[in-house]
Amino acid sequence: MGSREHATNQLADYAKGKGSEDQLTTSGGVPIGQKLATMSVGPRGPLLLKDHTFVDEMSHFDRERIPERVVHAKGGGAFGYFEVTHDITKYCKAKIFETVGKRTPMGVRFSTVGGESGSADTARDPRGFAMKFYTEEGNWDLVGNNTPIFFIRDPIFFPSFIHTQKRNPQTHLKDPDAFWDFITLRPETMHQVSFLFADRGTPDGFRFMNGYGSHTFKMVNADGESVFCKFHCKTDQGIKNLPASKANELAGSDPDYALRDLFNAIASGDFPSWTMKVQIMTQKEAADAKVNPFDVTKTWSQTEYPLIEVGKFVLNRNPVNYFAEIEQIAFSPAHMPPGIEASPDKMLQGRLFSYSDTHKHRLGPNYLQLPVNRCNGCEPKNYQRDGPMCSGDNGGNAPNYFPNSFSGPQQKPCFVEAEEECHGHAKKYESGEEDNYSQVTVFWEKVLNEESRRNLCENIAGHLKDAQAFIQKRAIYHFTQIHADYGRMVEELLNKHNAAKSNM
Ligand code: NDP
Repeated sequence: MGSREHATNQLADYAKGKGSEDQLTTSGGVPIGQKLATMSVGPRGPLLLKDHTFVDEMSHFDRERIPERVVHAKGGGAFGYFEVTHDITKYCKAKIFETVGKRTPMGVRFSTVGGESGSADTARDPRGFAMKFYTEEGNWDLVGNNTPIFFIRDPIFFPSFIHTQKRNPQTHLKDPDAFWDFITLRPETMHQVSFLFADRGTPDGFRFMNGYGSHTFKMVNADGESVFCKFHCKTDQGIKNLPASKANELAGSDPDYALRDLFNAIASGDFPSWTMKVQIMTQKEAADAKVNPFDVTKTWSQTEYPLIEVGKFVLNRNPVNYFAEIEQIAFSPAHMPPGIEASPDKMLQGRLFSYSDTHKHRLGPNYLQLPVNRCNGCEPKNYQRDGPMCSGDNGGNAPNYFPNSFSGPQQKPCFVEAEEECHGHAKKYESGEEDNYSQVTVFWEKVLNEESRRNLCENIAGHLKDAQAFIQKRAIYHFTQIHADYGRMVEELLNKHNAAKSNM
């Protein structure tokens, strides 16, 4: 290979491993004898429609693109295994956690959120951290981010929030007014905004960041007892971030920096790994908690709910084909095996619906039949039939209705979800006035040091400077609610930017 990195040398590596070449065929498998020219009447054309080699390939090429993910379009991923290192069966009956030492195949897709598939992966943006565990009781998708929290707590805002992070409807440009207008109208965003503009907003590739399930989930044990939990996956490589200036520079010189780094590390045998930990909250603790434990804009204090080690996962295989394995890998928080269930977290509840829904649009209703989305050694048995691109056995000759008297798949009471007590009046509960600042105050005071506070304020001011004055004012108000110094520092930096602008 000489000095060429693995990613750049991919084609040469393929050729070396391949040896002799295959016979070229049409999509139907018919051998092709000539593919260096179309079939024409005379050397100067016109072409003949009967040239199936050309028509077959061209018409397929015309359909090569599937809809890009609305969010998390730019990403990379890899495969490996999860291994249990500590026993948590007293909390959870999921087979994946059955015995210490047990390994389960898994895959992870890392991504940025707002940019398109070709955008720079060093951008300041949360990173998607979506995990798929191929368990024998169906796939478990833990579809998180590199932050333990999210911008909003009610999914009604999700489409609007994402619109403000993407492009202006007329200019097709990123719009600082829209970005900061929404954020400052919805101060529940302040916690995540403060994470995003701090140093961890530009991680050094995908290997040096943590992953979090972010939402609160429920774990159920073999006796049917349940607790609430949060998942944390701590990078074994240590946290490493790119200085803001370096991230900007790389966006121009190597917009695929994170993708390349992950591919090269794995190709050279330097397999990244993460340690999975959980925080546990009993039902009683959840009922008595001061902070709403189902609010995804909040964390659970690690002093009150300490991290409990569960296992680790290692990524040791690059995808063989990006489209087949990474573009088509489809995660849904609704994919949970027995023992792991949803909590009332409203954002999670919204996502339980929307992820599967978007895959049905993007990949088709039979997206779970794609090889990368199939479960491991557990053939789905149900009464769903037909639809576009049905590639399994479609239930074969088994009955296609339930209940039936003819040996169709049957339910089993041991898999019934844990009972849940719910009460309250059905109405739309506006949550904008809930506590939006106190955990951000702790973040500012206790987690950040002086240098990272400075970086945070500079990064914010460098972006907020392009929004209108009234929006800047509203933002300063919220930062001041978090901490007087936070508001003051952002204001001073903005004043400098604004003065420089008016001198231009
Ligand atoms: P802890 O001191 O136990 O936890 C603080 C956490 O902050 C650590 O997990 C640390 O991660 C993480 N951290 C450090 N720097 C940053 C950064 N720039 N951006 C995001 N996270 C960072 O305190 P508490 O549990 O009492 O939480 C205090 C505050 O810490 C919270 O209000 C919240 O803002 C923040 N936080 C809390 C987390 C939680 O799950 N409780 C998780 C992440 C942040 P690491 O271990 O990798 O250094």
